Amino acid sequence: MENSILIKHAKYIVTPDERGEGTDILQDKDILVENGVITCITSSCGETSPRGSIRINADKYVVMPAMINCHTHAAMKIFKGSLPDMEFWEWLDKIVKIERKIITKELVYQGSKLASIEMLLNGIIGFIDMYYYPDETVKAASEYGLLVKTGPYRLDNAYAVLSSIKNYPNGYPIINIHSLYKNDPRIIDKMYALAEEQGLPIHIHVSETRREVYLIRRETGKWPIQYMYSNGWLNKNVILAHLNWVLSSEIPLIREKNAKVVNCPHSAMRLAEAGFCPVYEILREGIILGVGTDGSSGDRYNLLDEIRMMLLLYRHNYWDTRLKLPYLFSKIMVNSYRIFGIKGGLIKPGWPAHLSLFKIDVVRHRPLGTSNLLASLILSGGAEADYVMINGGLVLTPEIKAKLHSDAERVLDKIEEKLLRIIDYYDGELIE
Ligand SMILES: [Zn+2]
Repeated sequence: MENSILIKHAKYIVTPDERGEGTDILQDKDILVENGVITCITSSCGETSPRGSIRINADKYVVMPAMINCHTHAAMKIFKGSLPDMEFWEWLDKIVKIERKIITKELVYQGSKLASIEMLLNGIIGFIDMYYYPDETVKAASEYGLLVKTGPYRLDNAYAVLSSIKNYPNGYPIINIHSLYKNDPRIIDKMYALAEEQGLPIHIHVSETRREVYLIRRETGKWPIQYMYSNGWLNKNVILAHLNWVLSSEIPLIREKNAKVVNCPHSAMRLAEAGFCPVYEILREGIILGVGTDGSSGDRYNLLDEIRMMLLLYRHNYWDTRLKLPYLFSKIMVNSYRIFGIKGGLIKPGWPAHLSLFKIDVVRHRPLGTSNLLASLILSGGAEADYVMINGGLVLTPEIKAKLHSDAERVLDKIEEKLLRIIDYYDGELIE
């Protein structure tokens, strides 16, 4: 019996409950994975591993569902730590100028490799992306086994980009529209028509800053979500990224049309976007809400940390703790798979084995038990994964980790010196 993995004596298993409303935490259990599917979770799923199977001793590990980064610009990893003191509009202006000057296919490929490596180390198995040369991102991520949902952001090359992405088994095509303020409404209509013709989702930035929502209001007489609604641009295949500035009267419109929402709290705070995503109210309406890291303004591709930021930002704004950690964790885990469009998010028999194993750190996490596990792991800033699997296939192990580190070093040896020579990372000025 090949293709089986026996996770032995997992110290803890954390999973959303069946209703996706809370979190179940199991202690000292085995997990058996056969042909990509979880087939057993009990105190003992067998002592000896079947021939051809892999055994992981997990008595110092927390097993969690692997995660999906629902909004990013992965290749912006090359701009890590850049423009740290700029508000959104100044930041956007600078970063676009830099990108126009230096972005090449090769840089997107290298940046996407670095991003994929970082995401794997943080227990992330897939991401929804929007960037230049999207097929290069799919190529890079596929080398590490990650799943990528991305696609064209222009009409003139859309068919070519879509067919190139479809060549990769790990590529999931999507239509990317930057925003309501950067794209002409006639072009947006055409992109929606293309998405419908091809049966693809739409991914768009919306209501990210106050200036944006007033800009749309001034031009159209409507707030952004109202404007999208009246133009027929909200439906179940639409992913709305950010939504920091949204009226409570707009939330039912999103609900009515079953559009999905992704919030990026770290990036929002870093870029002084203010507003905030009414996470609790959105979830209470039954809207599918996930979390993303955004690009370089997200600083690190770490979703446990984004969940932490989401919780803290909400509480800071509302002065109360109605948004509970087990509820939020559960919703984000389940919803991120629904936004990506694949089955996953639960650790239960019959579910695909998308798992990540985080080693319990004596200093950072303990004392640790079932009653403080989520808080200890998430509110204290997460941990690095040692094992990650997609459909029961291991894409991260301690051995693979060593290779990832040397891959990252090789990429950086190739691009780092040149990047630092031509860009001042602090103020964004181009030096050469
Ligand atoms: Zn973004």
